[in-house]
Amino acid sequence: MKVYFHPQFYDEYTTDPAAETGRMEAIVKEITPFTEIITCAPASEDDLLAAHTKAHIEQVRRVGLFEIAALAAGGAIQAAQAGMEEPSFGLIRPPGHHASANSCWGFCYFNNIAVSLYYLRAKQQIDQAFILDFDLHYGDGNVNILGKESWVEILNPESHQRDTYLEEVKDALDTTRADIIAVSAGFDHHVNDWGGLLHTADYKTMGQWVRETAIRNGGGCYGLLEGGYNHKVLGKNVLAFLEGLQTGK
Ligand SMILES: [Zn+2]
Repeated sequence: MKVYFHPQFYDEYTTDPAAETGRMEAIVKEITPFTEIITCAPASEDDLLAAHTKAHIEQVRRVGLFEIAALAAGGAIQAAQAGMEEPSFGLIRPPGHHASANSCWGFCYFNNIAVSLYYLRAKQQIDQAFILDFDLHYGDGNVNILGKESWVEILNPESHQRDTYLEEVKDALDTTRADIIAVSAGFDHHVNDWGGLLHTADYKTMGQWVRETAIRNGGGCYGLLEGGYNHKVLGKNVLAFLEGLQTGK
């Protein structure tokens, strides 16, 4: 499977836990034997303007994070494009699902999911999109930017029980007709991470369901890294999700 990454993502660009040293290393170490890692290129300002105001882009530039955030958004675009052909993953940071058109918080700067979906839409590669956000935290940026779009469905599962959480995901995927399934893939809901709910095997299961849905709808699928902060389990969880995407049929 193609995984879009850049060595610059090893940089500790801020002091927040998404930018911590060792985080990307832990994932790369775990997935390298099973994936093809491709160096990504930055998104253009026009790509970013599809999801953000000029003022927001300038603000990110002022705080010195434009370069790394545009690189993450570029990786998202490339993962989305590749995802139309076969499942793919953007191993990127900073994350994006808390970034709105004109503001951001929660370690996010540009909304990687939104930038990538607007890109596919502008290229007329998709009609309908479904976003599965299994990060521990509600993806307010995804909803603020894309919730108003008639061609986008967004699921932030709400259940605090593991079995009903997974049921919510399955039920929504079973009914969507979307021709691209984009996953805000945060792994902070794992039993050994902040959220304490999901097991490593659940990420594989959800990955399989995503791929099955994409095949059924004659479309594609891809995931983008959002949260996930326990370096001891993060790599295994990402690998489980990629295995699910790979083996779903
Ligand atoms: Zn999170």
